[in-house]
Amino acid sequence: MTEIIIEGVLFVALIATVGALFYFVLMQFTPVGLRVRQAKNRRQLDRAAELVCPIHGPRTTEDLVRLTSGETLCPDCYKETFNG
Ligand SMILES: [Zn+2]
Repeated sequence: MTEIIIEGVLFVALIATVGALFYFVLMQFTPVGLRVRQAKNRRQLDRAAELVCPIHGPRTTEDLVRLTSGETLCPDCYKETFNG
Protein backbone atom coordinates (compact mmCIF):
# COMPACT_ATOMS: atom_id res chain seq x y z
CA MET A 1 0.00 0.00 0.00
CA THR A 2 2.78 2.42 0.94
CA GLU A 3 4.63 1.69 -2.30
CA ILE A 4 1.58 2.62 -4.36
CA ILE A 5 1.22 5.94 -2.52
CA ILE A 6 4.95 6.73 -2.90
CA GLU A 7 4.80 5.80 -6.59
CA GLY A 8 1.78 8.09 -7.07
CA VAL A 9 3.45 10.99 -5.30
CA LEU A 10 6.64 10.53 -7.33
CA PHE A 11 4.64 10.38 -10.56
CA VAL A 12 2.87 13.64 -9.72
CA ALA A 13 6.26 15.21 -8.83
CA LEU A 14 7.66 14.03 -12.17
CA ILE A 15 4.74 15.55 -14.09
CA ALA A 16 5.14 18.84 -12.18
CA THR A 17 8.89 18.92 -12.85
CA VAL A 18 8.47 18.25 -16.56
CA GLY A 19 5.78 20.95 -16.74
CA ALA A 20 7.97 23.47 -14.94
CA LEU A 21 10.92 22.65 -17.22
CA PHE A 22 8.73 23.03 -20.32
CA TYR A 23 7.44 26.40 -19.04
CA PHE A 24 11.01 27.58 -18.28
CA VAL A 25 12.29 26.60 -21.75
CA LEU A 26 9.22 28.18 -23.39
CA MET A 27 9.71 31.48 -21.51
CA GLN A 28 13.50 31.73 -21.84
CA PHE A 29 14.37 30.38 -25.27
CA THR A 30 11.41 31.00 -27.60
CA PRO A 31 9.88 34.08 -29.26
CA VAL A 32 6.71 33.43 -27.24
CA GLY A 33 8.62 34.04 -24.02
CA LEU A 34 10.05 37.27 -25.42
CA ARG A 35 6.56 38.49 -26.33
CA VAL A 36 5.26 37.64 -22.85
CA ARG A 37 8.16 39.50 -21.20
CA GLN A 38 7.64 42.54 -23.46
CA ALA A 39 3.90 42.60 -22.64
CA LYS A 40 4.78 42.38 -18.93
CA ASN A 41 7.15 45.35 -19.33
CA ARG A 42 4.39 47.36 -21.03
CA ARG A 43 1.91 46.58 -18.22
CA GLN A 44 4.51 47.65 -15.63
CA LEU A 45 5.08 50.98 -17.40
CA ASP A 46 1.33 51.54 -17.83
CA ARG A 47 0.77 50.97 -14.11
CA ALA A 48 3.62 53.36 -13.25
CA ALA A 49 2.18 56.00 -15.62
CA GLU A 50 -1.26 55.71 -13.97
CA LEU A 51 0.31 56.73 -10.65
CA VAL A 52 1.62 60.05 -12.01
CA CYS A 53 -0.84 62.96 -12.07
CA PRO A 54 0.04 65.45 -14.84
CA ILE A 55 -0.74 68.37 -12.50
CA HIS A 56 0.27 67.17 -9.02
CA GLY A 57 3.02 64.67 -9.83
CA PRO A 58 3.64 61.12 -8.62
CA ARG A 59 1.29 59.42 -6.13
CA THR A 60 1.30 56.06 -4.36
CA THR A 61 -1.40 53.50 -5.00
CA GLU A 62 -2.79 54.03 -1.48
CA ASP A 63 -3.25 57.80 -2.09
CA LEU A 64 -5.48 57.44 -5.14
CA VAL A 65 -9.27 57.86 -4.97
CA ARG A 66 -11.44 55.25 -6.70
CA LEU A 67 -14.45 56.75 -8.46
CA THR A 68 -17.79 54.95 -8.72
CA SER A 69 -16.99 54.28 -12.40
CA GLY A 70 -13.95 52.25 -11.31
CA GLU A 71 -11.29 54.70 -12.44
CA THR A 72 -8.71 56.06 -10.03
CA LEU A 73 -7.95 59.74 -9.57
CA CYS A 74 -5.34 61.84 -7.75
CA PRO A 75 -6.79 63.01 -4.37
CA ASP A 76 -5.99 66.68 -5.07
CA CYS A 77 -7.73 66.52 -8.44
CA TYR A 78 -10.71 64.85 -6.72
CA LYS A 79 -10.92 67.65 -4.15
CA GLU A 80 -10.66 70.34 -6.84
CA THR A 81 -13.25 68.66 -9.06
CA PHE A 82 -15.91 67.63 -6.54
CA ASN A 83 -15.40 70.07 -3.65
CA GLY A 84 -14.54 73.19 -5.59
ZN1 LIG B 1 -3.78 65.64 -9.49
